[in-house]
Amino acid sequence: MGKIYMIGSQKGGTAKTTTTFNLAYCLRKMGKRVLAVDFDSQANLTTCFGVEDTGGLDDTIGHLMMAQIEDMKLPSPKKYIRTKDGVDFIPSSIYLSVVDAKLRLEMGAEKMLSGILEPLREKYDYILIDTCPSLGTLTINALAAADEVIITVNPQLLAMMGMQDFLRTVVKIRKRINPGLGIAGILMTMCESRTKLCRVLTEEVAENFQEQIRVFETKIPSTVKVGESIYYSLPVAEYSPKASAGVAYRKFAKELVSYEG
Ligand code: ADP
Ligand code: MG
Repeated sequence: MGKIYMIGSQKGGTAKTTTTFNLAYCLRKMGKRVLAVDFDSQANLTTCFGVEDTGGLDDTIGHLMMAQIEDMKLPSPKKYIRTKDGVDFIPSSIYLSVVDAKLRLEMGAEKMLSGILEPLREKYDYILIDTCPSLGTLTINALAAADEVIITVNPQLLAMMGMQDFLRTVVKIRKRINPGLGIAGILMTMCESRTKLCRVLTEEVAENFQEQIRVFETKIPSTVKVGESIYYSLPVAEYSPKASAGVAYRKFAKELVSYEG
């Protein structure tokens, strides 16, 4: 049975999408069966997978969520799961923001995404959910569907601020909706190891959270190759195999798998 990870943080620009895309690819390279779910109405992950005009799609996660809300039968996975380079994915579009508005008015709206993903578990080793930077109904749906959360932190953005709010939300979801929810760890992204700020902040994260939460040993360095690779809809390890971030994402995938024992 596959494991469901949510890639999350309460901030934008912490490399959630970049991490989901690259982690999916690296896990696939390790022979794992992977499904990546774009759960952000900005549809950046869908664009990473090379889908250009997301606005016109009618087979997105938003459409599946709407079917759930309306109590309609879901289409066969063949109809909405796409594949690129061996990685399966479910696209998103701006339509998810319509769903977001509707979800707020629904009873028991937290388990809609879970209802979509649970039947898919048996087909995959890993299901990765890329989320939007908010603590709203969509994020709650992702937390309700996940087994574990990977928290991405961009030291440049002082992203530790507000992390307590995110952790509090995780704890509440665990108590009220998803008792099995765990935190896989904190992944430091876009690290400029030469700058003092990154070093100081990495230490601060470790000090503040190491007791309760793992800080992954692997740190993802900042490199222009990441932006370039996304422009070409490629994982960085494929675009430029020697690029530091590509090497790091491969290492991170191995580290993550190693904790499963
Ligand atoms: P989020 O999904 O958390 O909003 P993104 O993954 O979209 O964040 O990343 C935000 C921006 O930072 C993007 O332009 C992306 O190309 C860039 N980026 C992400 N990771 C790196 C990295 N390791 N080095 C350089 N740029 C990065
Ligand atoms: Mg994103």
